[in-house]
Amino acid sequence: SSAFAGKRYAVLGLARSGLATVDCLSASGAQVVAWDSREEAREAVAGKAEIGDPLEIDLRGFDGVVVSPGVPLNRHPIAMKAKLAGVPIIGDIELFALARPTLPAHRVVGITGTNGKSTTTALIHHILEKAGIPTRMGGNIGLPILGQEPLSDGGVYVLELSSYQIDLTHSLDCDVAVLLNITPDHLDRYNGFEGYVASKARLFAMQSAEHVAVIAAEDEPSRSIVDQASGLPVLVRSSDIDPSAQLGWPALQGPHNAQNAAVAMAVARALGIADDMIFSALASYASLPHRMQAVATRDGVLFVNDSKATNPASTAPALAAWPPVDGRPRIHWIVGGLAKTDNLDECAPHFGNIAHAYTIGEAGHMFADLLRPHMAVDDSEMLSAAVRRAARFARSGDIVLLSPACASFDQFRDFEARGGAFVAAVEALDEKE
Ligand code: ADP
Repeated sequence: SSAFAGKRYAVLGLARSGLATVDCLSASGAQVVAWDSREEAREAVAGKAEIGDPLEIDLRGFDGVVVSPGVPLNRHPIAMKAKLAGVPIIGDIELFALARPTLPAHRVVGITGTNGKSTTTALIHHILEKAGIPTRMGGNIGLPILGQEPLSDGGVYVLELSSYQIDLTHSLDCDVAVLLNITPDHLDRYNGFEGYVASKARLFAMQSAEHVAVIAAEDEPSRSIVDQASGLPVLVRSSDIDPSAQLGWPALQGPHNAQNAAVAMAVARALGIADDMIFSALASYASLPHRMQAVATRDGVLFVNDSKATNPASTAPALAAWPPVDGRPRIHWIVGGLAKTDNLDECAPHFGNIAHAYTIGEAGHMFADLLRPHMAVDDSEMLSAAVRRAARFARSGDIVLLSPACASFDQFRDFEARGGAFVAAVEALDEKE
């Protein structure tokens, strides 16, 4: 497209989405200055962008500085520098929003919330596919949206949006904007909890009045957003999901998935998809890797990879999923990593389901001390050691669950690498025998 002809952008950070951004901008006629601290990354944009560090160059006259959502705007010097130069600081989602007028007729669904974003995004995408509507999924999930082939007429883009991505977006008017829930997370990057809630609220303030805001108003902060939505609010309740119908949706078990399914259903209806189509798609949906993913059964023990659960609120539903049988708790819980909180309060109601905990990573000692009064605890330190210990203690009917309630960066590149290490450790169990 020619959306950016004659514009000037600086792109900071050349990982996957940064590279796709440079490709898209330069292909549509923009002048691009790009930078990454890694030399290989800078070499990858040769011929498409001029190399220059936006912190070192004069930014006046640029149309935007494009950064990755990983850049902490509250403390990174680029934020202040861009502000002083009067240049907006944006992300790839904003560029997508700016390019929309040049795309064939389409609609956009934007999904945010503290937990359940990826599941709900993938589920909505799946329902659209089953309904035969052209669709692409992007944002915080899958491939960078700017690197994907644009949809033909009548398509729907389904975007998972973290609050960091919303912070870098100023003109995305979603046809359907979606809020799942809001619980404390990422507070290091916001001015307290209110700042985090305000960031989510902006997705709904950007909408025009004729568009739809699907909101699961099941917590106080989410309810507060209903009043700030400029579109038509559609309120969703998990309790509207019939538990016996949910039994027929294998990848959507547990109360948290009732919320995800209820929200996806409301979105699909808002997009005009018929109920029988929606229900059959809920049944055929398959879960994403690293999210309550059953990876193996070994001597009657189920191994579950929930590496994506990076805070206690997202681990809680995993612990709730397997109650005791005949009074015997069954979960062997691998927990720890880089802690986001100094407590596991959200998980505490489900401690009765846990047979044994195995702590790992930087938070391991702290969590071991915290859990010892409630259950048997092994301070395993390493994930592979935790898997071996758990496999030794677990009996038939038990579950070995990696649901760390922590970020992964102390020991792994990301949550995918952590989940991969779990799967490898489970596979290695068989080799030893
Ligand atoms: P996100 O993309 O927002 O991090 P995911 O869909 O990847 O969310 O789910 C991450 C984890 O959060 C899941 O493994 C599950 O334990 C938990 N979770 C999923 N949906 C919800 C929900 N609606 N409410 C609370 N927790 C949830």
